[in-house]
Amino acid sequence: MEHDASCIFCKIAAGQIPSRVAYEDAEFFAFHDINPWAPVHFLIIPKAHIPSMAHLDASHAGLMGRLMALVPQLALQTGCRPYPQGGFRLVTNTGAEGGQEIHHLHFHVMGGPRPWARG
Ligand code: 5GP
Ligand code: ZN
Repeated sequence: MEHDASCIFCKIAAGQIPSRVAYEDAEFFAFHDINPWAPVHFLIIPKAHIPSMAHLDASHAGLMGRLMALVPQLALQTGCRPYPQGGFRLVTNTGAEGGQEIHHLHFHVMGGPRPWARG
């Protein structure tokens, strides 16, 4: 699996930088955002270092499908309330104009009662 020694999210996924872990398996790591926008705000990442969504192609379809299928389960486990009264928001920032700050592919999952701090 490809890693980037200078990447903060690779270090978080490897346990080299502490985080509040929400989920882990062989392919994925989920942890709570250090600066939450909402009562629930976690990030789910592939452990493999993929810099952004712009780097995806058909070879990633299975991996990304498995990641998407995990999101509703993790949302409920982290405290998002059930659909349709509850729910969550899924966001991926890509590139400078997309507002991406950390260049390791990550999906923000935000939820919980409103109002939120942002968004
Ligand atoms: P981006 O703008 O790249 O989509 O979002 C990066 C997110 O990572 C931000 O919401 C930021 O709060 C979060 N983040 C940055 N550094 C850390 C960290 O060291 N630990 C955790 N848990 N979250 C981080
Ligand atoms: Zn990385």
